[in-house]
Amino acid sequence: MHDPLVVAFEIRRPWPRVSRPRTSDGRALAPQLYWPRLVTVWHREPGGRDSGEVCKHHTRHQDATGDWQWKFHWAWRLHVHHWKVQIPPLQELRRRILTRCAWCNGPHRKSDPVNVSHSWDGPRGRWWRGEPGLYHHDCSGIASAHNTCSCVDPVTEYEGSGRCARCTRYRPYGMTTDRMARVREMQAIPSGGRRAADGEQTPTPTPETEGGTRHG
Ligand SMILES: [Zn+2]
Ligand SMILES: [Zn+2]
Ligand SMILES: [Zn+2]
Repeated sequence: MHDPLVVAFEIRRPWPRVSRPRTSDGRALAPQLYWPRLVTVWHREPGGRDSGEVCKHHTRHQDATGDWQWKFHWAWRLHVHHWKVQIPPLQELRRRILTRCAWCNGPHRKSDPVNVSHSWDGPRGRWWRGEPGLYHHDCSGIASAHNTCSCVDPVTEYEGSGRCARCTRYRPYGMTTDRMARVREMQAIPSGGRRAADGEQTPTPTPETEGGTRHG
């Protein structure tokens, strides 16, 4: 596998985080401690070569008896000029502060993260602009619905699926009546809009739900 990057070393946070894993049926397992990374220092092989090709991690030589001996080198870890330094907490902070949802332009929140991508390998963007092309979970669904063909009489590339010539939107394979009803419901939400907080479209909030859930 071609990979010019290898971790030279890591600095971990000196106090641990406790994770409390649960089984799928809800039983608590023993708590586990782990030490999140504060700094990761990568060594980037020069010229885009694979790790260890130029800055050797080990060499082999034959000794007097003809046996092969391995010798390990550590100097590559200190090649400051080949370092690529990554600070995971800053990346997380950047995401939290700067990233906006591509659909509603709303911010990232712990309870409502902006972390759904519609492309495998989207553009990285400049760090001061936050990560582009990310959505809130439910905004992602609404955005997809807006890109879905919901024509009553579609003219599709293939039998009932593919690009529709009538609306230029895409109709996925195996669309059911139920799913189409949900797509239409989400298409009724205006561009950039969101669903009401309880997941239903409720035009007239009842006294109990009014206030509180608004500006979150
Ligand atoms: Zn090096
Ligand atoms: Zn959103
Ligand atoms: Zn269509």
